[in-house]
Amino acid sequence: MKDLLKDPTLLRTQAYINGEWVDADSGETFPVRNPATQEVLAEVASVGGAETRRAIEAAEVAQKAWAARTAMERSAILRKWNDLILENVEDLAIIMTLEQGKVLAESRGEIVYAASFIEWFAEEGKRVYGDVFPLPQSTSRGVAIRQPVGVVAAVTPWNFPSAMLTRKCGPALAVGCAMVAKPAHETPLSMLALAELADRAGLPAGLLSIVPGAHAKPIGDEMCSNPIVRKFTFTGSTRIGKMLAAQCTETMKRTSMELGGNAPVIVFDDADLDKAAVGAAASKYRNSGQTCICANRILVQEGVYDEFVEKLKGVVGTFKIGDGMDESSTHGPVITRKALEDIKEMVDDAVAHGAEIAAGGDFGAEGEQFIQPTILCNVTDDMRVFKEEIFGPVAPIFKFKTEEEAIAMANDTEFGLAAYLFTRDQGRSWRVSEGIEYGMVGVNEVLISSTFIPFGGIKESGQGREGSSYGVDDYLEMKYICFGDLGA
Ligand code: NAP
Repeated sequence: MKDLLKDPTLLRTQAYINGEWVDADSGETFPVRNPATQEVLAEVASVGGAETRRAIEAAEVAQKAWAARTAMERSAILRKWNDLILENVEDLAIIMTLEQGKVLAESRGEIVYAASFIEWFAEEGKRVYGDVFPLPQSTSRGVAIRQPVGVVAAVTPWNFPSAMLTRKCGPALAVGCAMVAKPAHETPLSMLALAELADRAGLPAGLLSIVPGAHAKPIGDEMCSNPIVRKFTFTGSTRIGKMLAAQCTETMKRTSMELGGNAPVIVFDDADLDKAAVGAAASKYRNSGQTCICANRILVQEGVYDEFVEKLKGVVGTFKIGDGMDESSTHGPVITRKALEDIKEMVDDAVAHGAEIAAGGDFGAEGEQFIQPTILCNVTDDMRVFKEEIFGPVAPIFKFKTEEEAIAMANDTEFGLAAYLFTRDQGRSWRVSEGIEYGMVGVNEVLISSTFIPFGGIKESGQGREGSSYGVDDYLEMKYICFGDLGA
């Protein structure tokens, strides 16, 4: 793997704790595999609760000195980090494609997206303002200031191994917090490479520690129970998120939860069907269907159903499935063999209940972890593909009759992250956007995510917003100060 990198020293396999690269206390390591070939890419240190505690204790010390520096000083270091990430896009993209499977073009896009959170918050950290309150006593004045919450612990998933770190540590570091972060065990190399660049940028020791591990529980237990940690931020599944949020209540930590989704794409009969088909395909099959805002249910008005399916089949027919390192591949493998089997079970359930496979449907033929982009027709709301996050390249296409029915179907889920609609009717675009229960809505647009927007969900998709000027709020406490005895 090192031979593929211009700068092989970006390949880090030890934990990064208090500014040092260290092995696990136990000496244990775990393998990181290429999902396209199953080849073992590296053995990475597998740390546990004790190392995590040390990282948290170091963060406590480092955070105090960091918070005492000016926002401009913090910004200068973060900007340097951003520049180093952008100078190393190609190597970072190769590391990501090898461990995560997404095609190189998507990996390059993610690295630039990841850097953008550092750059954005390096600036936003300079704009942390307070408030002055009129008081009932003429001799007093009230002000509120905003201060960093302190030590933050973060846990991230494998589907965006770089951006899910920077979306959290960008705002946290910019406003004066320190962070201890755990990558997913499938994709630790991307996060460790970013830590190497943070180190080179001059980020002081202890401010950002990375604790990879084969066993998530002891790391999570320490993060969620240690009273030094004042804030826990998680991106991952709703099941794990709920469990960790519950653990955090014991020490009353603040939490941000970016959890699962079940995004509807609603295609009305007045929509531009070509654009809707291209948009639905982009949303559904990006990262081989493994994003939290991926289209999960495509809801199409009955009069245009057949035409839409044909157009979607046309778009899917242009895809080339293959190893992400091959520049001609448009879509890579899924993350593990287990993921492939879970997705297949959902398709089998749909077929057993009467669904038809209109395209694809091949699991494993092009390589152990490759799924052909699949379209399912004749699907109904009692099937698993309606209720559960598919997290793979399978598009079930449901039929609806009226706008009211589309809204009801879209809302018929415990999730509420992203939703999309295609219509040329302005009134309808407002009515439906306001009527559906989601944190983010794309109208005639599926590329909704960027640094500039408040990303996040409602219902069981979580709480908190990442990105935009609101992105700093989750890392700041408000303190009220009353100045009395000021004279008449
Ligand atoms: P996951 O199984 O919940 O894992 C996410 C992270 O949690 C991994 O780092 C995992 O570590 C860790 N984890 C598991 N058990 C833990 C414990 N007891 N203590 C501490 N950490 C623990 O989710 P996933 O399958 O990796 O990711 C896919 C999910 O993420 C999907 O549901 C997707 O929708 C969601 N997601 C949401 C957003 C958003 O912004 N809303 C963005 C991306 C993804 P190990 O890898 O070591 O097990």
